[in-house]
Amino acid sequence: MENTQTIADGNRMEFDPNDLRLTRFRKDAIHKYDTEPIMFYFTTKGELEAWIQEQRLYCNWNKHSGNISSVPRKDKRQQLNSVDYKLVYYCDHHGHYAPQHKENVSPAKQRHGKETIKTNCGARFIAKKFSLSGTIQVEFYWQHNGHEPGSAKDIALSRNNPDVKKWIDAKVSQYYNTHSVKELLRLSESDMAQMLDNNSDVIFASLRVTFMDVYNALRRKAREESELAQNLSDSITLWANKLSENGWHTHTETISLPANEVFIFCATSHFQSSILTQQGSIVSIDATHNVCRNEYGRKMYLTTILGRDSATGCGVPLSFMWTDSEAQLPLISIS
Ligand SMILES: [Zn+2]
Repeated sequence: MENTQTIADGNRMEFDPNDLRLTRFRKDAIHKYDTEPIMFYFTTKGELEAWIQEQRLYCNWNKHSGNISSVPRKDKRQQLNSVDYKLVYYCDHHGHYAPQHKENVSPAKQRHGKETIKTNCGARFIAKKFSLSGTIQVEFYWQHNGHEPGSAKDIALSRNNPDVKKWIDAKVSQYYNTHSVKELLRLSESDMAQMLDNNSDVIFASLRVTFMDVYNALRRKAREESELAQNLSDSITLWANKLSENGWHTHTETISLPANEVFIFCATSHFQSSILTQQGSIVSIDATHNVCRNEYGRKMYLTTILGRDSATGCGVPLSFMWTDSEAQLPLISIS
């Protein structure tokens, strides 16, 4: 098979790179030790990262502190216990659930999320690189409390691991939509048979990906691409500059009214304005309400001027205007 990749799932299987073929360990595949904590020693950063990657095959680990620094500390004291870096990771079931429900909201309107995963699990590992020897020591508290990694319930409740999130983000950035991502996640009959086999100790991570995971990734991407700055006015200014550079006509205005200020942003491409100014064109106006909210929480309205394409007979958008008011005010007086 061409264009295949080998993934670190313990089986060294080859898959089409388009598909998400990461796997998770079922509970029987997770190693148990005689003592806690169990110590591991590595000589390179790569060995440590590979070990951490292996632990992610059955559980998500959140980094609580530390960074791997490749630059040795300048003030390194030549003591046996001095370290270049120290990393602390906790199981993502660590901690307590703090209810977000508001007291004065009726039960029917409360948000109903999934069952909490927080069981105050104490599983964790601490990695230290000793300055003198260069050895990396991992102190691993491997026993989990309140949940069983790799069990059906744990897999159903747990979040996607970082590699799965990366895969979804990569597909979304290549303009795959929820439908096409779903197609890539579909398992073949042989995959299903392999997984359902009682001897299999892995489960495909794709089974855990939900519609909302892809939808949220699409929303994140749309937000990243549309919000050019944190502040709305700065973002609009950047959009106006960007569109002007590409030959668009833009117009930004703020009109002061007794009660508030009305914001207006208009944009028309060179092609659109050439059609709009043609003699005899029939134009109509379409208004879309509540497209989003501005930074003050006010609803935004999109007004579109439409023309009729003489060849197809269909409506063609010719100019766009965004505003945070429904007031009817003249923008430009033509005398
Ligand atoms: Zn745990």
